[in-house]
Amino acid sequence: IIETRNLVKSFGQTPALRGATLGVRAGEILAIMGPSGSGKSTLLHCIAGILTPEEGEVWYAGERLDTRSDDRRSELRRDRFGFVFQSGQLVPELTAEENVALPLLLSGTRRGPAMAAAREWFGTLGLDGLERRRSGELSGGQAQRVALARGLVGRPAVLFADEPTGSLDSMSGELVMDLLTAAAREHGTTVILVTHDARIAAYADREVIVRDGRVSTLTGAEA
Ligand code: ATP
Ligand code: MG
Repeated sequence: IIETRNLVKSFGQTPALRGATLGVRAGEILAIMGPSGSGKSTLLHCIAGILTPEEGEVWYAGERLDTRSDDRRSELRRDRFGFVFQSGQLVPELTAEENVALPLLLSGTRRGPAMAAAREWFGTLGLDGLERRRSGELSGGQAQRVALARGLVGRPAVLFADEPTGSLDSMSGELVMDLLTAAAREHGTTVILVTHDARIAAYADREVIVRDGRVSTLTGAEA
């Protein structure tokens, strides 16, 4: 459903992607691993249309995205994609439940149903009682679970999750992976997951490694 061909992206003099080629099947959970600074987040941002690569192509469901208008790419981000960002993701002034409801509100759902749908996630994620808490007053692990609920609430076709288990203990990490697996199996969500944790990656259908801005498949020696 997603394909990138030879993506090149630099930040000033710093090359972040140097020819990254990747294919992701619909409904697949793909784990992206690799060293810090290797280009994992940049790759996600190029696929999602948050960044534009200098060279190469990004395809989603038969549509070439890197040459599309900003309007079309924003529309896809709003209606088809979900995100769990690596850092600084929640709006601190909003309550936890308002943060979760945000994608629904932005895509035109009325406030009542949006808030009701948002609230349904709190029990599942072990966040009961935190619905009205300002998200700036949550712990790192709580905020990360709220961010996950926000990523999934709109039932996106593709979920981009950048280190979604980074601030979680292993028990909540398993819970998060169970939720991602359920989203993929029951709703056909394609999950692109960046993680440093091999135990988390083991839940994925497939693992790839990004190294020096290129994608390689996991070999036996690296596993
Ligand atoms: P991590 O595991 O630490 O999150 P990563 O694999 O996600 O790392 P990227 O964030 O994609 O790595 O960064 C790839 C390279 O691009 C790094 O050298 C980084 O310093 C650089 N880079 C990323 N974003 C920017 C930016 N906004 N401005 C300048 N350089 C950047
Ligand atoms: Mg990163």
